[in-house]
Amino acid sequence: MANHEELFEAIPKPESGSVLYLPQEIILPPEELMPLLKKPFLEMARMVAGQEARSYRGFNVGAVVLSSFGNGAAYGFAFGANRKPGPNAGRVCAEQLGIAWSLNPGLDQPKPDRILAFYVWGEPQPDRVSGKLAPTLHPCGDCRTMFELLPEITDDTMIFTAGPDGQTEEFSVRELIDFHKNDIAS
Ligand SMILES: [Zn+2]
Repeated sequence: MANHEELFEAIPKPESGSVLYLPQEIILPPEELMPLLKKPFLEMARMVAGQEARSYRGFNVGAVVLSSFGNGAAYGFAFGANRKPGPNAGRVCAEQLGIAWSLNPGLDQPKPDRILAFYVWGEPQPDRVSGKLAPTLHPCGDCRTMFELLPEITDDTMIFTAGPDGQTEEFSVRELIDFHKNDIAS
């Protein structure tokens, strides 16, 4: 008969988390690092969208989230894809899953002190809150609210975006939020 206590002890403890760390050789100040990662991380986001997104209407989005650990002693990244398996299913955004993997990397794993940047790939569509159609897909209203509330995300957290037509944009969280603020006067 199986000894359950022994079996439970054999369950592995989380030893590696959901965050991948950049090699120490490429530790640079964030202002230098973020644009250097634009090309490889947007390409990674495109691949994540293609391989991991679950959208009933083929609206595939991928995101790579860059974070800082120990006041810049290390940088890590995690990625996410969107999930909406049917029209009535709740939406999980690529950015939100990337945030989850970043901030909840596993038991006993180091937690980031800052989220520095998002790299997002998707097809542009009109924003549900502001109605604006930008050249690239911007994080949605729910994501923007999350950005404003999470202490790891600040006004100067950067967002780099790209889509299938090759256009790219980059802006800060503050610029994103201001861009989509509803114009009350109109
Ligand atoms: Zn969103």
